[in-house]
Amino acid sequence: METSLLICIIHKGEKLRMYCTDHSHLCCSKCVELNHRLCLQVTPLPQAATGKSTNFKNLSVSTENTLSQIKQCQTYQEDRMKSLKVSYKEHEGLIVDGLRVNIVSYLRECETSTVNTTHEHMQYPISEMREEIKYLLADFEKSTIKEKKEELNLKQAPLKVVRNSCIRLHYELFHLHVAIPKVLGKPELSFIASKKCLENIQQTDIFIKENFSNKVFTVNGKSVHNVKMPSDSCTCWIKAVCALPDGQVLVADLSNYKVKLLNQQYRVVSHLDVKPLDMCLITPTEVAVCMQDEVQFITVSQSQLAKSRKLELQHRCKGIAHHQGDLYICTGTALYKFTLSGKLVCRVYEDSSANLTVEKCAVSPTGDRLYIISRYQNKLLTLARDGTLLATYTDPALRVPSGLHVTPAGQVLVCEWGSNTVLQVGREGESKLATLATREDGVRRPWSVCYSSTTSSIIVGLYGDNNILVFRVE
Ligand SMILES: [Zn+2]
Ligand SMILES: [Zn+2]
Repeated sequence: METSLLICIIHKGEKLRMYCTDHSHLCCSKCVELNHRLCLQVTPLPQAATGKSTNFKNLSVSTENTLSQIKQCQTYQEDRMKSLKVSYKEHEGLIVDGLRVNIVSYLRECETSTVNTTHEHMQYPISEMREEIKYLLADFEKSTIKEKKEELNLKQAPLKVVRNSCIRLHYELFHLHVAIPKVLGKPELSFIASKKCLENIQQTDIFIKENFSNKVFTVNGKSVHNVKMPSDSCTCWIKAVCALPDGQVLVADLSNYKVKLLNQQYRVVSHLDVKPLDMCLITPTEVAVCMQDEVQFITVSQSQLAKSRKLELQHRCKGIAHHQGDLYICTGTALYKFTLSGKLVCRVYEDSSANLTVEKCAVSPTGDRLYIISRYQNKLLTLARDGTLLATYTDPALRVPSGLHVTPAGQVLVCEWGSNTVLQVGREGESKLATLATREDGVRRPWSVCYSSTTSSIIVGLYGDNNILVFRVE
């Protein structure tokens, strides 16, 4: 372990000897010769390490955070690879099935038209024909499958590269994380380990930002699904959407006072009567629905919904989000943090200057950023964990933000009522990265948005429309 710590990460055969304060860089003699000859503060390591103390507790917390985030990115990438494979398999099956159906019906036609007119000896050419077609069909199946497989491999290759980088970054950082407690008594080694650790965290953060959180979606398909039930008396108002990891989807229909469960084909298979204002995922089979001043937990089992426990709150409850046991509740003008058992932890943020300044919220995958939409102030706010305001995003295109979602990779999605669009905003919450869908794509009065990594799609719920929109994205 000591030897691996002492090796230069750029010049693998060389031992680290110096530290350049100008660049905050650990250097071997080659590094110094090539890149730091003109630097003013290049000191030998033992000297650089003396008297420098690192806060190892803080370092260890941020290392663990980064490790968990890169692991989540790896899983996210693996989900995307899986969903690509499933969609290709379906596509491939459809082509082959279509051809098979055509041939069978053609054969049947031949048979019925010849049966009336021909004699015994005609049976032979028909069976010969059948054999021939069977052979051709098998051949087609083989070549199509081969072609499709190659196409799939081609599409999966870049995803695999990023997945492998996740694995490598996780491995390297984990190695340092384990090494640090073992070298605590040795100033030079712990200096090197902490510097390397910080460098790795930075590198991983940049990698995650470039490849995940700020990775812009491209839309490559759309489908529309009717979620109105025969018993519904009103046109649907879909106030919230939740995608379950198994591909099922929950929609909160406020006009009909129902939470509906949709199967993988987006057909309603079960429902519960509640008055849902917002909804969030708690576990892969449980959601929390917020109502006027209470939170109703709902479980999903064998395609059926069932009410479980309920929390009574002292506040109004307009929006809800969950992150690893923390429940965030928007009251309309404040954001509160609760435990899952309903114990109030703290008030994170408040703005009583207007109505609905804190309507819906979402949490980044590591919990270090909270996003809030402020409907009538046309704003997206980004807060630190403790409620400090980090960024405010306003834009002429952001007129009346109505829905908000953060993907497992940290991408921020906002749907927006005033100009009928679905936007992707940078994870810093400072600027727009892309307009993913507009009125031309059927986005009319969008009210909720959600991403499903299982199906690689963005689901949009609308106000005053029985259809939900499903955009396939890459
Ligand atoms: Zn070097
Ligand atoms: Zn330097």
